[in-house]
Amino acid sequence: MATVLPTSATNAAQPLTLTDAQQARLARLGVAINQYPAITQRETYKAIFSRKSRDLTWPITKTMAAVHTGQVPAPVMLTHIVTTRCNYLCSFCSFADSLNAKTDDLSLSEIEQVYATIGNNINTIVYSGGETTLNKELPDIIEAAYRLTPVKSVYIISNAWKPQLLFEITHRLMQRCPDLHLTWSLSIEGPKEFNNTERRTHADGWDAWQNTIDTLEGMKLMRQRYGYNQLDVQLCTVCTPDNHELLGAWYGMVRDDLQPDKWNLNLMRKSVQMADHTMASFEDRRKESGLEPFEKTYLRITQQVRDDVLDGRLKFIYHTGSPMEGAMKSAVDLLSQEANRNTVTQKPQLFGCKAATAGGFIGSTGDVSGCEEFAHNPVNNKSFGNLRDVGYDFMALWRGNKANDYRKLVGNSTECQGCTLESQRNYPAILVSPQSLTKAAWQGWQLLQAAGSNSTN
Ligand code: SF4
Repeated sequence: MATVLPTSATNAAQPLTLTDAQQARLARLGVAINQYPAITQRETYKAIFSRKSRDLTWPITKTMAAVHTGQVPAPVMLTHIVTTRCNYLCSFCSFADSLNAKTDDLSLSEIEQVYATIGNNINTIVYSGGETTLNKELPDIIEAAYRLTPVKSVYIISNAWKPQLLFEITHRLMQRCPDLHLTWSLSIEGPKEFNNTERRTHADGWDAWQNTIDTLEGMKLMRQRYGYNQLDVQLCTVCTPDNHELLGAWYGMVRDDLQPDKWNLNLMRKSVQMADHTMASFEDRRKESGLEPFEKTYLRITQQVRDDVLDGRLKFIYHTGSPMEGAMKSAVDLLSQEANRNTVTQKPQLFGCKAATAGGFIGSTGDVSGCEEFAHNPVNNKSFGNLRDVGYDFMALWRGNKANDYRKLVGNSTECQGCTLESQRNYPAILVSPQSLTKAAWQGWQLLQAAGSNSTN
């Protein structure tokens, strides 16, 4: 029997009807959605009026024109760290050494000044941390980006510690920014027991795994109920020496049972690998042609994901303005993982790094650089400078002397050997490369065919 959940006075949407299969699935996954009022009722918000064109064509054209004329283009993609505070303490965190150190995060009014000077090419922003939602101004910051830049796509990385809060942020952004595509990237490291041990939450009985699954399922129900057709929720797992033996079975569960809109398997980043002094450096490992077991697992499973997606066994298409747009976005993800496999096995690169030209980085206290590895190198920091020192004028740093010097090192610096940073190395390069986009379009078409044939099976 179908269950109809209650509507509220503030909700103009249709009531949410759960099928028997949905109810059984939620019960199996231990998701009690009635504990989250935001799934069945919402605050209403007025949309921000915006005439900005959020199409990628113009930023690509301007970037190519700038490169051909020897100019420095404004970034097309930005990684913005909004805090380095976190309520979890994961061993593989890139901020493990400095997490929760007293910092002075940029405020909303400071960030507004930065976004007003960042140029008119921005298409994609990745909000990362620390735990992004610990910055109480996060929704205001994203709205500022929507008002002041032509951003089309926003990713928020979160440990999903408080599902109700993430649902409330989603309601607000989906209504305030109607042309925005929002993806929640929820961290989860494997099966429940492993995940909850690895996350080190310091709270007895805290079920980090269940919170993530509740958020995943809640977001899908909100999309269904409120017609949020530009909302995606993905799960992200870091492939490390600690969890790689679990990942085959974990991938099976993700694909067959959890079914997020997308699953990202990220390779533990090089700088974090190097914090474990028992492991040989990437360069030494490659000289001896020896792949670490976790690297072999990464190669095997990302290849399997690709095969499953292209065979229609795994649905992998973003919810965007059109099916082709969503399929292309997914194809970009596949290309990025292909690029990383080439990096790990030292095959020829699909493309060069475009950090510091197409891709930019802003740290929580205002340091600007081409990428996180440049900004955080503890021995040779390659920050272009701090926004607070230049009146929040992004371009003053982006086109300054330091930036020009460090830009020459992109792709060739010590940080770059074995770099698999997807959102900072790969995506900016793909977004401004006609060849890569053509390849993504072809793969996107294949994805649509696979998804179509799968749905008729
Ligand atoms: S290859 Fe990686 S470390 Fe080097 S500049 Fe690009 S993103 Fe940064």
